[in-house]
Amino acid sequence: MGNQVWTTIDFDRTGFQSDFARVPWSSDSSAYGWIPVPMLCFNGGDGPTVLLTAGTHGDEYEGQILLRRLVQTLAETQVRGRIIMLPALNRPAVLAGRRTSPLDGGNLNRLFPGKGDAGPSAMIAQYVTEVLFPLSDYAIDLHSGGSSLDYLPVAFAHRGRSAEQSQRLDRLLTSFSAPNTLLTDGRGGGGETTLYACASAHGVAAMTTELGGGPGLSCEGMAIGEAGLRRVLRDLGIAPGLDAPPQEETRHMYMLPPATTIFARTDGLFEPKVRVGQEVHAGEVAGYLHGFEDLTRAPVTLHFETGGIVIFRRFPVLTAAGDALAGLALPVDS
Ligand SMILES: [Zn+2]
Repeated sequence: MGNQVWTTIDFDRTGFQSDFARVPWSSDSSAYGWIPVPMLCFNGGDGPTVLLTAGTHGDEYEGQILLRRLVQTLAETQVRGRIIMLPALNRPAVLAGRRTSPLDGGNLNRLFPGKGDAGPSAMIAQYVTEVLFPLSDYAIDLHSGGSSLDYLPVAFAHRGRSAEQSQRLDRLLTSFSAPNTLLTDGRGGGGETTLYACASAHGVAAMTTELGGGPGLSCEGMAIGEAGLRRVLRDLGIAPGLDAPPQEETRHMYMLPPATTIFARTDGLFEPKVRVGQEVHAGEVAGYLHGFEDLTRAPVTLHFETGGIVIFRRFPVLTAAGDALAGLALPVDS
């Protein structure tokens, strides 16, 4: 089914507009209703378009707050080109404080390019793919580790598919200058089903971030995100008057294959022995998994099979078989 999501925003009209991506959702309580996904458009005429999204996962808060703050900042700044902003992209998940939507169980960052007849999460993905990507030159989808992961502050991107797209992407990543930048092919994450991968496949220069971890808000992640967004909008000429701190040093890394990630093989309580950002060596203890049944048994000792930098680590202690406990990346020049 084709896209059913609609809005009163006219993306070609100059000036500021605020409405919703209106996602039709016929429920017991509202036969003809729609889900109001907040959407803002700042159009200052000629110039590039940047798409800014957060709340793709509802339990990741740095991006949601950064974009809310940016609305206030942009109200006092002259914009050239266009900014389309959706700070609570999977609104039902945002309201529930969950990674996935309580309406359809949808994990929006695994549903791209989306579908018109598979529930509201897939409908949002379809709208972004079919309506917003074609309008956009650049896209930043702000994520964090969320409830289940602690994460090193990073920017992720897929390689450009043409020299021109790669150039745009390089400009975006250089300007954002996250402390760590990784070019990926989606292995071990969402493959081609994430927002940034799909945007990239549609010719957009797209990146995503991880700005913290756990259910709280990271001060460090907020500062990195705010500085990065300000630099990007200033350097692309979209908000040339915006103040921004100077670019930081970026470490270029690559993700090690999923086979090097430590997974729980049984249910238990995870006792980590490493933190994110730490350099580890092959054979080093990552942590222990304490079982529930036989308390006379020693806990399972978890060892890294490969050396690297711990890029993510499970946040909660309570663990089920199959959970990812720690993953590794390596600097590009190592
Ligand atoms: Zn996320």
